[in-house]
Amino acid sequence: MAIKRIYIELTNRCNLDCEMCFRHTWGTLEGDINLNLLKSIREQVKELPALEQVFLGGIGEPTVHPQFKEAVELFAEYELLITSNGIMSEDNARDNQKFIVPLKNIR
Ligand code: SF4
Repeated sequence: MAIKRIYIELTNRCNLDCEMCFRHTWGTLEGDINLNLLKSIREQVKELPALEQVFLGGIGEPTVHPQFKEAVELFAEYELLITSNGIMSEDNARDNQKFIVPLKNIR
């Protein structure tokens, strides 16, 4: 079976602390994926000819990753799926708005 979608968790950190979040049940260290690892993944997915979608999400809030913009740019040729709580600091929103707003299908 050909791989059409991959999932990359950019971070398990979040800018919120919702009471019901299952992250409260963890003892897991928080952290961000390294940009060099992202670049390595980008090279490796070239060997997946059927790949159509890259999902940037997971447990944490992907927009808090310090290189979120670079991650989006790295995989821009694919259909990008991103989960977000939609909450950003003013600085983060200003930095991200140029490339987030043009994204299609924001739900
Ligand atoms: S936004 Fe999601 S990941 Fe972040 S604290 Fe709330 S429930 Fe947890």
